[in-house]
Amino acid sequence: MPHNNNRYTAGPNQPGAAFIIRGGHVVTMDPALGELPDSDVLVADGEIVEIGTGLHRPGATEIDGGGMIVMPGLVDTHWHLWNSSLRALVRGDDPHQGYFPVTLRMGPYFSPEDSYHSVRLGLAEGIASGITTVNNWSHNTRSPAHADAELRAMHGMGVRGRFSYGWGQDLALDQPMNLDDLARVQREGTPDAALLTLGAAVRTPVANPRGAVPVELLKAEMAAIRALGLPITMHARPGVVSVLARHGLLGADLQLVHPQGISPEEAGMLAAAGTSFSCSPVIEMHYAQATRGEIQFQELLDHQVPQSLSVDSSAASANADYFSCMRALLWSHKQRFGSKIPLPPRRLLELATIDGARDLGLDHRIGSLTPGKRADIILVRTTDANVAPMIDPLHTLVYSAQPSNVDTVMVDGKVLLRNGRHCGVDVDEIVRAAAASIRELRARFGQAA
Ligand SMILES: [Zn+2]
Repeated sequence: MPHNNNRYTAGPNQPGAAFIIRGGHVVTMDPALGELPDSDVLVADGEIVEIGTGLHRPGATEIDGGGMIVMPGLVDTHWHLWNSSLRALVRGDDPHQGYFPVTLRMGPYFSPEDSYHSVRLGLAEGIASGITTVNNWSHNTRSPAHADAELRAMHGMGVRGRFSYGWGQDLALDQPMNLDDLARVQREGTPDAALLTLGAAVRTPVANPRGAVPVELLKAEMAAIRALGLPITMHARPGVVSVLARHGLLGADLQLVHPQGISPEEAGMLAAAGTSFSCSPVIEMHYAQATRGEIQFQELLDHQVPQSLSVDSSAASANADYFSCMRALLWSHKQRFGSKIPLPPRRLLELATIDGARDLGLDHRIGSLTPGKRADIILVRTTDANVAPMIDPLHTLVYSAQPSNVDTVMVDGKVLLRNGRHCGVDVDEIVRAAAASIRELRARFGQAA
């Protein structure tokens, strides 16, 4: 009988399972613990129990961490997973085949199943890239069935995350999003309350490629979402911070995306309100012509605005390589400031882990390898030709590592990837289903795509 390498024997993933990740170079991202070379991490029942040397636990499954960096899983804070499969059609920022025209044209044709297959495809890639938490920014929540399908896909992949319930791509700008259904999802709960939380994605009240929503409508939507106690996310464009401030809409429950075109006064308003910014550097460097692609990471840092990192869309950037996201921000920063203002690897890794967790309100549970936190852990091989030899793990991770070096991924103490292969999901099937979905979408669209 052929051995199916995509399947992991389920035993160690049972509730209560214990693991010892043995002899890795542990990068905790916890300032009190620092880096622990040649150390073990004990995980039991989904929790990080202990980090040290010579750890033992009867019945624990051993994972060899030799030659590996052991670190917290990467946290994405803004990702349109519904359009992952549209990478087949998107051609950069081409006026007809670019990301915005393709998603606007094709979005209305997405069935719940198309969204389901696309979310799974994006997550299959993301998990293999070391991403353990996502903010699924669903700006094609076309119906209750679409919302349920996206949540079902997230649940099936085993990832941690937030589902940010949005609107359909062809929803008229003067029409409200489906707030009743947002409340329905909150009432019914996500498929796994421990891993998946709910938020809302809203439209932008200033000029942008998808059109500006009237500010009075936005105010009503945000008031309703805040009455439900849910966090909100919005794409930023130049001038939006002032508009939001003028209408009293900033707040610590609001995350903005794309830190570009922000004035110093606006940065001060964000800091005062506690509003955060998610940066998607790979996208921002080549899509934002109005701001010449300048990413204002440093300006927001100077004002102590909370920040995090994100993929945005693996259709627009063509992949979900989170190491590239870190490097793109580094390159952008270097281009703007040279060596005058250093951006050390540690700062980028904080953005990728603990700061992302904080942005999603999860820093008490994940984002660092700290005993008592949930076990979202990745192992990155340091013996591959593209990263070896490794002396400084932080430098290696930021300057050299690629998704192909990600060996093992664990979310909430459950192994999702081992030896670079998915466990418990059939990636070939996920890829086939996403490809078939796109072929059928194009047929439905009349080949005009
Ligand atoms: Zn986006």
